[in-house]
Amino acid sequence: MASLRPTVKTVGLPASSSKIGMGGALHEKIAARSIGKIAVAEKVRAAVRTGPSKTEFREYPMPDIAEDSALLKMEVAGICGTDVKLYAHPPSNAPVIMGHENIGTIAKAGREFTRRKGFKEGDLVFVEHYVMCGKCEWCHLGQYRHCENTDWRTNPDGIRYGYTSAEKAPHLWGGFAQYVYLPWNAVVHHVPKGVTPELAGLVTPMANGVEWSLFDGGVGYDSTVLIQGPGQQGLSQTVICKQAGASLIIVTGTSRDTARMKVAKELGADFVIDVQKEDPLARIREITGGRGVDVALDCTAGAGTMPILLGVDALKRKGGTIVVQGEMKEFPNFPLEKVTVKFITIKSARGHSYKACELALQQLASKRFPLEKVTTHTFGLKDVDLAIRSVGGKGVPDVIHASLMPWQ
Ligand SMILES: [Zn+2]
Ligand SMILES: [Zn+2]
Repeated sequence: MASLRPTVKTVGLPASSSKIGMGGALHEKIAARSIGKIAVAEKVRAAVRTGPSKTEFREYPMPDIAEDSALLKMEVAGICGTDVKLYAHPPSNAPVIMGHENIGTIAKAGREFTRRKGFKEGDLVFVEHYVMCGKCEWCHLGQYRHCENTDWRTNPDGIRYGYTSAEKAPHLWGGFAQYVYLPWNAVVHHVPKGVTPELAGLVTPMANGVEWSLFDGGVGYDSTVLIQGPGQQGLSQTVICKQAGASLIIVTGTSRDTARMKVAKELGADFVIDVQKEDPLARIREITGGRGVDVALDCTAGAGTMPILLGVDALKRKGGTIVVQGEMKEFPNFPLEKVTVKFITIKSARGHSYKACELALQQLASKRFPLEKVTTHTFGLKDVDLAIRSVGGKGVPDVIHASLMPWQ
């Protein structure tokens, strides 16, 4: 069988040339002990964000695993645009183990954890970054993303992987570490057989693809779609829209995105537009015979108001839907009149539901699309700074999706 990842490059700087200091403790030999059936280290290495664009490597004690909790041995932490943003501009001064798109193996599961949740030692799983309360209306709907227990913006005690302070015991709240702690209220999914950890690392952008384009945007059979931004998120939306039966998929990007645009076409985009070389609105009108598109999705990063303005203009005459991200605090001269006259529905891109994750995992298991073209690079823990910068377009060139492998 051919390798699933022919284009993967493992990259990184030798430790000596890395700008990141690696504490002497990191080089100590880690003693192993046995918890349950699986041998685990006594100390856990983690990459900790300690300030804007600043990483320190620290060790944390292996937590005690109570009957209702579990321990995840990390395999792959996916890195996305949110990491790029939160690394450069941390929302707080607290030390944080980042990594919110986590795939791993259950190394230790308490008896109650297995009984209540159905996950046992040795299972390969995807852990949502939302840690739920299990009691509220959102939790009962499988919409853990909206639960106050995980809302760091409104609840200072909220728990969310990749966001929660590493000072909060038992510290292991992020995937840029060898192990992650799973309390009873972690939301866990089985990774289907035949899906490698690295491929499973795409589940978050794929789940967002299901949520934003299908559930929010209403994309389905014969839909016409504009996807702005050909990063891992835009490419995942492309696959999901194609699978759902969209009859026209247009992906926009900049001249820097040449390699990504090529992948977009291989994954099902009908047209790609370089917005720096062509007038995107004129081109969309030409492609659609003046009609415009049913749905516009914003998957750009740091592009300001432009994607929303283009989306509003590119939508069909009446009744289109635009899915927006909230990158900007303000939007001067927002074209409210145009939005209402065109009877546009605005939806908010906000992570994923339980159902979207399950559908995304099934999509990955189908192997129907060459998604190994998206999982382009892997990085070891010591290169986390380089990995995040590369996803942001400033380190290693042509990174689409980066998998952080905390044991490398
Ligand atoms: Zn993410
Ligand atoms: Zn809840």
